[in-house]
Amino acid sequence: MTKIDISDMLTSYDKKNLTIATVCSHSSLQIFNGAKKEGFKTLGISVGEQKKIYDAFPLGSPDEHFIVDKYTDIAKYAEELREKNVIVIPHGSFVEYLGADNFLKMDLPSFGNKKVLIWESDRKKEKQWLERAGLTMPQQIKDPKDIDRPVIVKYHGAKGGKDFFVAKTYKEFTKRIIKNKRYIIQEFVLGTRYYLHYFYSPIQNNAYKLSKGSLQLLSMDRRDETTIDEVQRLGSIAELEELGIHPTFVVTGNIPIVMRESLLPKVFKMGEAVVEKSIELFGGIIGSFCLETVVTEDLDFKVFEISARIVAGTNPYISGSPYSEFIQPDLSTGRRIAQEIKYAAKNKLLEEIIT
Ligand code: ATP
Repeated sequence: MTKIDISDMLTSYDKKNLTIATVCSHSSLQIFNGAKKEGFKTLGISVGEQKKIYDAFPLGSPDEHFIVDKYTDIAKYAEELREKNVIVIPHGSFVEYLGADNFLKMDLPSFGNKKVLIWESDRKKEKQWLERAGLTMPQQIKDPKDIDRPVIVKYHGAKGGKDFFVAKTYKEFTKRIIKNKRYIIQEFVLGTRYYLHYFYSPIQNNAYKLSKGSLQLLSMDRRDETTIDEVQRLGSIAELEELGIHPTFVVTGNIPIVMRESLLPKVFKMGEAVVEKSIELFGGIIGSFCLETVVTEDLDFKVFEISARIVAGTNPYISGSPYSEFIQPDLSTGRRIAQEIKYAAKNKLLEEIIT
């Protein structure tokens, strides 16, 4: 199947009648709510009947439900969806359910730069991008025999921290490691975690100026991770480990947070560097992205991951955050995405923010 050119897809679109669509999960309530506030029609894609849940939240419910048998079928309905002038908003679950390869092949206009997936989904490439941007990542330990401090072991392709574990010695590592799975070993950074939610617009110059366009900080969160965040209720981690109970890192929710204001210059410098390097490497990360960081006691940031689209950590801020309130009242990330599409459609710039 030959891929349809994005400009061909958009030529046939009625730009005054666009529909914002996403998969019903993750941050979809916020995406639909934001799109509605900006006057768009909305469409929710789901496997099986999800409507009941959305009926409970009328202001976050899509105008139309589009039910498929399995997520990989979305590509089959691309033509039907294009007839509805659909622009899809990718979020973490959307890309995960569909698989990165299928997402890349999908013949539907998608908000953001799809090429970012190639740089983000491969841990080696992600490291190259972030380090070449001058960010500090946790130190990587190549040989498990060299473990001389607390480390976190991460498996490739594991989502939501699945099976990650902490080890303090080589012996502990050998006890826990799952054979035949690819992994990396990172120093476990001591500090406080901040997940920073940025928005980069290549087409608007009304925020923190970059070489092209501008950058905003919309919010930040801390993830609630089980069992690591609560395990100490039962006793010390060391005690529990002796009983074979090990902390895990599965995300169950998100907690709002605000940072010392004096750290904001560093936050913007990091965001700027990541965007500038992305422009050089693959034409730019467009729209929402999140840097997942630990701030050490010396107030240095160590960045352990980047998410290149709207993250669920923005969900506590449907009616604005302590940062977005200084940009515009009532501004969620979902709404900011809709505003960007609206601005681009009005100024004939859709091809700059959609791939
Ligand atoms: P996702 O793709 O959902 O962001 P993931 O499976 O790629 O998750 P990470 O985000 O890399 O996993 O890590 C999961 C959790 O482990 C983090 O939210 C954080 O609490 C903890 N963590 C990760 N790396 C480090 C580190 N180097 N030092 C301390 N804690 C870490």
